[in-house]
Amino acid sequence: MNCEDLKKYQYAVIGDPISHSKSPQMQNAAFEFHDLGRPYGKIQVKTDELADFVAYARENMRGFNVTVPHKQSIIQFIDNFTEIGKLCNSINTVRIENGNLYGTSTDGEGLAKAVEGHFGMKAENLKITFAGAGGAAQSGVWFFVYKGAKKINICNRTLEKAQQMSDALKKAFPALETEVCLMSDFEKMQSFIADSDLFIQATSVGLKDDDPPPFDPAVLDANKNICVYDLIYKETKILKYCREKNIRCADGSNMLLGQGAAAFKFWTKLEAPENIMKQALEELK
Ligand code: NAP
Repeated sequence: MNCEDLKKYQYAVIGDPISHSKSPQMQNAAFEFHDLGRPYGKIQVKTDELADFVAYARENMRGFNVTVPHKQSIIQFIDNFTEIGKLCNSINTVRIENGNLYGTSTDGEGLAKAVEGHFGMKAENLKITFAGAGGAAQSGVWFFVYKGAKKINICNRTLEKAQQMSDALKKAFPALETEVCLMSDFEKMQSFIADSDLFIQATSVGLKDDDPPPFDPAVLDANKNICVYDLIYKETKILKYCREKNIRCADGSNMLLGQGAAAFKFWTKLEAPENIMKQALEELK
């Protein structure tokens, strides 16, 4: 952790690695719009530095974003949770007031807003298949269910993780329909997709240009009306396949914007100037 960097900022995104983060440009554009300067930085915080960072932040900062690998480990330091933050067991945004940490997750809100913007779909009664059961899938799943989704299928490389998520969902929302399968189970995935409105690619596969697709994209042919949202904010092999097959699809850019806008509001209680934040992100492309 670079202590000199730390002293410069009232807000920051913390993670390890962190150099790739686009949040400072996006958030500083919003702060500047409100004449609040450029108070947001990025700080590399290793796992064994998290407690020291939190102790510093309590006394000296106003808020921060949390990314990989701290979205779960930050929970032990949070004094007050929003309902969604508590439900989804993953915190990406923290506000600091009088030394107390208020934690929430804005990832799910950002995802749902992006899905509504691209495909005109609202969470109520939605049937969704997720590929992936990591932190991002977790936030998305819980947000959609909290807002009234009807059915959640989870396909993952490690079946146990999908099953744990599904069991926890069922316990909290007994009326929810939920099933799981291995991501290598082509037929089961096909049957999930055939009965879904929306497919969300929430694995980390595709971040690197030479990544193979995380599953056989031909499963998507099971439903010609399926809409596909890929959390990764670049053209993945899954998105390429969708475009070739005229399947409606979008990348994760608007989710990044939506979670950032919700975080800005959570800290400042001011409107987030989304067009300006979006422009700042586009300038980085
Ligand atoms: P994570 O917690 O590390 O989870 C990774 C997921 O990918 C797990 O389900 C994992 O399966 C799966 N996976 C990893 N390698 C795989 C492989 N070779 N084959 C099949 N599955 C594999 O990561 P995360 O935080 O959920 O993030 C997931 C993605 O979402 C990342 O690409 C991240 O950049 C993106 N994201 C985007 C936004 C946005 O604003 N657009 C926000 C948050 C995250 P196992 O359970 O089997 O390990």
